[in-house]
Formats: sequence, C-alpha cells, structure tokens
Amino acid sequence: MTEQKTLKGAVRLRGVGLHTGGVVELELRPAEPDSGVVFVRTDLLGSNGGSARVEARVERLGSRPRRTALVQGPAEVHTTEHLLAALCAAGVHNVEVRLNAPELPGLDGSALPFYEAIRSVGTDTQGVPPPEVRVSEPVLAQEPGEHGAWIAAIPCPEGFRISYTLDYSRLASAMGVSPAVRALATQYFDVLVTEETFAREIAPARTFVFEHEVRQLRAEGLGKGANTQNTLVLGKDGILENSLRFPDEFVRHKILDMIGDLYLLGAQPLGRFVAAKSGHALNVLVAKQISSPDALAVGRAVRESLSWNAR
Ligand SMILES: [Zn+2]
Repeated sequence: MTEQKTLKGAVRLRGVGLHTGGVVELELRPAEPDSGVVFVRTDLLGSNGGSARVEARVERLGSRPRRTALVQGPAEVHTTEHLLAALCAAGVHNVEVRLNAPELPGLDGSALPFYEAIRSVGTDTQGVPPPEVRVSEPVLAQEPGEHGAWIAAIPCPEGFRISYTLDYSRLASAMGVSPAVRALATQYFDVLVTEETFAREIAPARTFVFEHEVRQLRAEGLGKGANTQNTLVLGKDGILENSLRFPDEFVRHKILDMIGDLYLLGAQPLGRFVAAKSGHALNVLVAKQISSPDALAVGRAVRESLSWNAR
C-alpha cells in the first residue's frame, strides 16, 4: 500500500527571497496524517489571532504577477513552487513549513537545495493512504490567441508524466539574438516524474529570465533578490556571468515549476500533462479544472472536438 509520508525530523534553510530581496528563515517540520502542506508565517503569529496559516491548496491561490501566491485571511506566501516540487517528488504529503517572511528563499534558483534538505532528514510513512488525484477525463487549459500557451491533461495509467515545449523563438528574433541564444529559444523535454528522475533531471534546473525583463521586473518592484548566480539571465549573446547545468535547463525548469504548481492538488496527479509555453497562471488553471467537477464537462467538450477533427 502507498502511504502518506512526512519528514523524520525538522530541517532549516535560510536565504533571500528572489522578488522581495529579504532574508527569510525556513523550517520544515513533521506533521500529522491528512494535514497536508501548511505554511505558518511565524512573523504574524500572535498578531492575527492564529491566522498565520496558509494551506498549500488550489483553493488558496491568489493572483499576483509572475509567481504563485497563496493567500488565507491576512497571511500570504509567495514563490512556493520550488519547495512544493521537491515535496511532491519526495512523496511528502504532510509538513509544516514555518517561515518568517512572505516569500520563500530563492537559494540557487532551483529545487535542489530543498530536495537535499528533505533527503538530509529523511521521510517516514504514516499508515494512511494518500488522497488520489487522477485525471480521468481530458482537460484543456488555453490562453486566447494563435500563439497562446496551452496545457492538455490526459489520463495516464503509468503515473505522472509531463511533456513540455518551450518556444521563445519569436521573442529571440525580435531581440536580434546570436545564433547560440536562438538555439536555446526552443526546447522540448518529456519526463515520467519519479523521485529518481526528479532528483537527476529536474531539481537542479534553475529559474531564468531575459535580460530586458530584468529592468521590467525591477520597475514592478520585483526581482530585488535576483542576481546572475541565483537566476540565469539570458542576454543577446548568451547567459550572463554563469553557465548552464543542462543544455536544455530552461525547459527542465518550466517542468519543475509545473510539478510544484500541480502539487497544490494535494498529491501527485496521475495523468499526463502535455504543455506548450505555459507558466504559473495556466498551471494553476489546469489544477483548478482537475480539482473541480466542471473539469469533466470541459473534458467532454475536448473529446468531442477531437473526435470531430478525426472525421
Ligand atoms: Zn521556478
């Protein structure tokens, strides 16, 4: 029987929030079966009558630009996706995540430090089966427009699989980039997500940004803690002041983000996610569709249009 898991002990991490630039102390603690992943804002404890808790659930999603934000009452937690991806891959269902600031630490820009912290304390089974999240009908989430991003989720008996196509070719042409950068602009990766494939192929992939976006982010008051060591910055001629861990590191990171966003469903989803150009907004939209009964109606519509096309 597959069982819910928690951590064997507590583990601490410390770092800077990529957007806020503030130092944050993080502590992961074991938690009871069926409690899920719960963030506790220790800086709010006492001032809000116990409302410092934020559940890592689809229902808690708030809308904030360029990142995943969870909101519950007066408490918010931002940039949760890299930690959630590591917890998802390690099969940790129940954990209390205590932090003293609104944003999780960016660390090296990947999920590897979070995954290593989880492994350093180990996990324990809890004798209770995990909630099942199964894609039983096709679900399609799509941005409007000819070049819009999309994600199709389809049933997949073999497990949790992601196939992702990243395509910045139009942006790269508009920027007038070098051939080396143009080669990075279109990437594809396919992975059956297991703890082993995650640790080896996905966890080390770091977040990235185009050089011109850095100015934009700063103007929006974001990216204050980002630098060329914790974020891959792609300029006209290549990566600034850093080098790639994988030739296709960008697409691997997009998959990492998607794993983290989909873990808001409360368990690893059983299904295949075929995605093109999607980001946090669409990732969480597909998660919402899977978690809501309306998803079935959407699935039927997709299936009907597919069979119509086949004729
Ligand atoms: Zn990310």
